[in-house]
Amino acid sequence: MTARVLSGSEVAAAVRGEVASRVAALGARGRAVGLATVLVGDDPASQVYVRGKHRAARGAGMESVDLVLPAYASQLDVERAVAELNGDPSIDGFIVQLPLPGHLDARRVLDAIDPDKDADGLHPANLGRLVLGEPGPRPATPSGILRILDHYHVETSGVEAVIVGRSFLVGRPLALMLGDRERNATVTVAHTRTRDLAGVTRRADLLVVAAGRAGLVGAEYVKPGAVVIDVGTNRTEEGLVGDVDFESVSAVAGAITPVPGGVGPMTIASLLENTVTAAERAAGT
Ligand code: NAP
Repeated sequence: MTARVLSGSEVAAAVRGEVASRVAALGARGRAVGLATVLVGDDPASQVYVRGKHRAARGAGMESVDLVLPAYASQLDVERAVAELNGDPSIDGFIVQLPLPGHLDARRVLDAIDPDKDADGLHPANLGRLVLGEPGPRPATPSGILRILDHYHVETSGVEAVIVGRSFLVGRPLALMLGDRERNATVTVAHTRTRDLAGVTRRADLLVVAAGRAGLVGAEYVKPGAVVIDVGTNRTEEGLVGDVDFESVSAVAGAITPVPGGVGPMTIASLLENTVTAAERAAGT
């Protein structure tokens, strides 16, 4: 079997087109939409991600503001930048690029973001809304994964879903979203203490891997015909690779997302969606 490739790039282009129409509709009423990013330090990978976000924002007709702080910025400096964006009426949504340098407390920085401008959906108020099933911006990467599944008509109801990774960024919110009353998957979350990881992942009809370990998942981890979503982005000497060994797993899986061109572009598209939704709400539409 050769797995069907689920192109996140293709789905993201469609989502960005929808966002652009919504931005244009607001623009026709004289309302611009603004997205900002806060980058601390000069990590090359983070710079690439931030540039991609601005390119996509401008492509969708948004104003984009790029705040860069030096790597030695203090907790107070970063929280001040966040407060500035919270109070800036031209900014509808913004993100603080993670990871932050080690001396900074990322949780406290994220807590300082106005929940209504939380384009990444990672503020505790919005994570709480997710747990309660109330509306609010959802975490961008899990939202992007669900969009890929919807686009390719992947059934989630009643399926066994296994997520490798339990971060607040990906694994935990995704587990809630896949297991809610809309998606109805039966979800298992695996991590470094999981016994017999391959035995657990082989049960999955839908396998999502978000561990940050290049090539962690080979063919022996995958049930024949399973849908495999590779969230991992690992910079290696061979370039950007996922957590899944694409070649061997493609021979077993029914469908698979590539890296690059899979979940990454969808994360950016979801960020734009959260921002235009915030702008529509602020404009009272
Ligand atoms: P993280 O905070 O480091 O969490 C990694 C999770 O994976 C942890 O729960 C960890 O378990 C688990 N894990 C690590 N190694 C494992 C192993 N050998 N077996 C089983 N579980 C293992 O990472 P993250 O922020 O969620 O990101 C994960 C990956 O996704 C990274 O490569 C990141 O770059 C990528 N990512 C991509 C996008 C995108 O848009 N494409 C967005 C976000 C993240 P413990 O909890 O036991 O430590």
